[in-house]
Amino acid sequence: MATNIPEFKLVLVGDGGVGKTTFVKRHLTGEFEKRYEATVGVSVHPLRFHTSLGEIIFDVWDTAGQEKFGGLRDGYYIGGQCAILMFDVTSRITYRNVPNWHKDLVRVCENIPMVLCGNKVDVKDRKLKAKSITFHRRNNMQYYDLSARSNYNFEKPFLWLARKLSGNEHLQFVAPVSLPPPDAGIFLDVEDIKARERLIDHIMTQPLPDYDQDDDDL
Ligand code: GDP
Ligand code: MG
Repeated sequence: MATNIPEFKLVLVGDGGVGKTTFVKRHLTGEFEKRYEATVGVSVHPLRFHTSLGEIIFDVWDTAGQEKFGGLRDGYYIGGQCAILMFDVTSRITYRNVPNWHKDLVRVCENIPMVLCGNKVDVKDRKLKAKSITFHRRNNMQYYDLSARSNYNFEKPFLWLARKLSGNEHLQFVAPVSLPPPDAGIFLDVEDIKARERLIDHIMTQPLPDYDQDDDDL
């Protein structure tokens, strides 16, 4: 492996079952080159992206399921340079737990760039409406809808993080990432998704409520 390629540790967190492993495994070279960190019992996937400033590697840390039994050990977070915090738009509890994951992250990693991602947007019966997803706005994060199984928005969180880490807002990805085809049976209604994104853009321009939404609203 070349030694002069910038490489960043990316900490991937969120409740068990939200799709973290599915997401990181989509990137085929990362899956092929992954290694196992025995000390913390996790796998590390080096995800390569070709940018307008050259190659960048995100070493994405993925648990072996330990998050299902509570928080993760400090060794998982130590040295983290950026993060993806994932929840599942079909499961309200996974969004309610986002502040806990955020707290654990900033306790060890402090002020690193972080992206909030709502996965499984291909599922018709979405439980979390766009207007309920506000956590990122209070916490200086970016938000993206994702569908790991259909590849929808796969590159978006990485592009945002690459721009933050390089300090260059104009950085672009210049070559396609090799992704497998969408999983069988996972079809996205692109018009529906676009309408949702327009709604999110609109919501971004509205003032935040000065209280947290109660559960009925989520
Ligand atoms: P993890 O515990 O966060 O690593 O979650 P997994 O990657 O193991 O996924 C949990 C379950 O969610 C699996 O059955 C996946 O197939 C499913 N899943 C993951 N991503 C998606 C998605 O984008 N759409 C749908 N419909 N299911 C997904
Ligand atoms: Mg997993």
